[in-house]
Amino acid sequence: MRTVAVPDGDGYRLTGHKVFSSAGPFADFAIVVARMAGTGEQEGDKPRFSAFLVDLDSPGCRVEDGATPMSGEHIESDIVLEDCHVPAANLLGEEGEGMRIALGRVTTNRLLHCPTVLGATRRALALTLDRTRTRTVAGGQPLLTLQAIQHKVADMATGYYAARSMTYAALAALDEGREVHTEAFMCKLFVAESAFRILDEAVQIHGKEGLTQGNEIEYLFRKIRMFRVLTGTSEIQRNGIAKLLAFHH
Ligand SMILES: Cc1cc2nc3c(=O)[nH]c(=O)nc-3n(C[C@H](O)[C@H](O)[C@H](O)COP(=O)(O)OP(=O)(O)OC[C@H]3O[C@@H](n4cnc5c(N)ncnc54)[C@H](O)[C@@H]3O)c2cc1C
Repeated sequence: MRTVAVPDGDGYRLTGHKVFSSAGPFADFAIVVARMAGTGEQEGDKPRFSAFLVDLDSPGCRVEDGATPMSGEHIESDIVLEDCHVPAANLLGEEGEGMRIALGRVTTNRLLHCPTVLGATRRALALTLDRTRTRTVAGGQPLLTLQAIQHKVADMATGYYAARSMTYAALAALDEGREVHTEAFMCKLFVAESAFRILDEAVQIHGKEGLTQGNEIEYLFRKIRMFRVLTGTSEIQRNGIAKLLAFHH
């Protein structure tokens, strides 16, 4: 991690550049994790990370337009810190607890993405059912009378039901205050991967309509793609599940 915090009198000075900071265009504050200066700089020296609440209007802090993901949403910013003073009161927890705080938050974030993905998937399912009832193909039959299409729709609905059930179970456990690291990894992995498969079938069933810019299915396909990457890629979720299974069971 290249963002660095240097203790300075009654606080810290932060320098670094955070890309893909979601909600940056409308946020007033950001939780920034930085490496404590003087740690992790030499071979074998363990880095210590701390978390800070940074007022984005502080001198030395700029919020710049970020990259636009393939969904086309303007929700990302780059946060550029140049010797930005952060008062000691804005240190979250203790020095050195930054990674624990960040990873704890990411667990909740993973689960909070799932309802968004489910909403997009449910909409795609409804649009696909409508399309299969109204689109007639050779012989004048609606698509939904073809068994090949019926099976696709059945698999899509089953995948959606499983993803929704997992999300409800994991969020209920979180609400009860239970530790849900494994469930959050599993849920985010399964929901993002099944949504991708469901949306891909939705595009397939819509034919050229599903590939046309401006069509809602085309938009939903682009929108859900990023969930296999953000808050940890699917590969990283699998790494996390395997690690927890190997070391905590
Ligand atoms: C829309 C969007 C919003 C985001 N918002 C935020 C945000 O608000 N805050 C924030 O901090 N970040 C944010 N991110 C960044 C996001 O967390 C990273 O993109 C994600 O963690 C993957 O890191 P990377 O892109 O650097 O991929 P890389 O680390 O370069 O990975 C590339 C590929 O290699 C694979 N890979 C890497 N390491 C391993 C491994 N050990 N085992 C197996 N496979 C591996 C990955 O799975 C991936 O397929 C956002 C990203 C997107 C797209």
